[in-house]
Order: sequence, then C-alpha cells, then structure tokens
Amino acid sequence: MKKHTVCKFFFLLTVLFAAGNLFSQKPIKTLLITGQNNHNWQVSHLVIQQILENSDLFTVTFSVSPEKGSDMSNFIVDFTPYDLVVLDYNGDAWPEETNRRFLEYINNGGGLVIYHAADNAFVNWKEFNEICALGGWEGRNEKAGPYVYWQDGRLVKDHTPGVGGSHGRQHEYVMNSREANHPVIQGLPLKWRHATDELYDRMRGPGNIGSLLYTAYSDKETGGSGREEPLVFTVDYGKARIFHLMLGHAGPTVEDCLAMQCTGFQVLLLRGAEWAATGKVTQAIPHDFPTETTVSLRKLYKMP
Ligand code: ZN
Repeated sequence: MKKHTVCKFFFLLTVLFAAGNLFSQKPIKTLLITGQNNHNWQVSHLVIQQILENSDLFTVTFSVSPEKGSDMSNFIVDFTPYDLVVLDYNGDAWPEETNRRFLEYINNGGGLVIYHAADNAFVNWKEFNEICALGGWEGRNEKAGPYVYWQDGRLVKDHTPGVGGSHGRQHEYVMNSREANHPVIQGLPLKWRHATDELYDRMRGPGNIGSLLYTAYSDKETGGSGREEPLVFTVDYGKARIFHLMLGHAGPTVEDCLAMQCTGFQVLLLRGAEWAATGKVTQAIPHDFPTETTVSLRKLYKMP
C-alpha cells in the first residue's frame, strides 16, 4: 500500500470508530400496550410515545387491543423483542396466552412501567396485583390488601375495611421525596410542585413496594384522604424492574394535557423507564425541573 492510501485507511477507521461510539447506545425497544381505558388513552399513548422518543433513548411500538366488549381472543402479545413494556391499559381481560407471556416476561427480569390508571386493571388477577403493589377502583376493597400510606416517617399498612382507590378534585401539589438515593430520582429536588393532576388516594393491594420515591399529601380540602399517599415507587417482584407512576391524568387533546405536560412527570417517566429497562439512569438532571413553589411545563414533550 502506498503511504497516502494507508493514511486514508486509518482516517476511515477513526471515523467509523467515532461513529460507532456515537451510536453505541442502542435505543431502548419499548412496547406500549393500550386500546382500552376509562381514560383518554387516545391522547395518553401518543403523549407517552412523544416523551420517550423525543429523548432519543427509546423507540416505541404500540400494541392496541380490540375495543372494550369485543372478542379479545386474537390479542396475543409478543413481549420477547422488547427491553421495556409500558402499560396504559385498563380494560377487558387479556387472553390466557397473553397473560402467560406477560408473566414470563416479568419473571425473566423484564422492565415495566405502570402508568396512572393501568393499576386499576385486572382486579381478579393475583399476580398482576402483586406486580402493581397497589391498585384501585373496579370493586377493590379490603380483599385486595391493606391501605398503604406514609405516616410518622414510615410506610404503614392499614387493614381497615373500605373502598380501594379514589381521588379528590384535580389541583397542583407538592411531591415529597422518600428515598433520595435511588437512581430514578438521585439529584432531583426533594420537594417539587406538580402541575394540576389527580392525586390517587386510598389505594390498596399487597403493598410490596420496593423503593418509595415520592409521596404527596392528599388534603381533605380538595376531597382527599388526609394522608400522605405513595404515588411514585418501584415494586419488589422477583427479578423484574417495575416502575409505578400514578401521576399523569390525560387531558382532552395532546395539546391540552396539563398533568402530562409537567416537566416533573416527563422526567420521572423518562428516568423510571430507563431504569426499568436497564437498571441504570444515564440522563442528566434537567435545568427546567420544577421547584417546590413553581410548576414547570414542557408543552411540546421535549427538553426546551
Ligand atoms: Zn385519571
């Protein structure tokens, strides 16, 4: 080889190596399950896709179920190609085969995000309720497990009989950190103001919370429980990495969707999703995160 050809060859190698480094972090392959919900899933699934894909860390594929009340027998989901599953589903039972595959994915250490009303689903499916740790509505009561809330510096399990799952009127509220060193929230403010949203209260379930990340006070003045409610946590379930995010009630349109436009919601979704998929969080702490007194919005679902 002549000298300049050798130089060209090494130049090309260097360029290829640099490009390889740049793209070495493969996007997290994400499956989002939706199609039935007592919520506006037609908005929420698109918003979640935008939030995840705008970060360049995720690619999102949808699995949309048949309409409520129709034949579900062909809704067979293949979980195996995915690093992450996001549930935005609260509807009719899946076919047994899909349930089996879902448990297989979870038991093999799969990554899962449970978003908002997904924890209302499948009241009679024991394993699913353990995968959520807490759920609400759909007839849940003391049979579902205790009420679980934060009191006197610890999580308490309260076996008082009663309805599981309710919320007062939507309002802004302050999130309170309870385990500041978990990778999902490490470096985020200990207190921050969430944009107008529902605040789930009186949730019940097995209560197998792994790390409790944020709670918020559910004020009786806004129709709440008068308790400090767990709203963001991981779930202790075998090898699986499960991130449960109760925030983010969908609005009427993608453009008018205040709770999901909250920067805090989006950052938690992104960090929780990355952790569920990989066990790590590589994202920097953003400069536009809300403070204890000031709400912050990302109306376009991406970093400004
Ligand atoms: Zn809601």
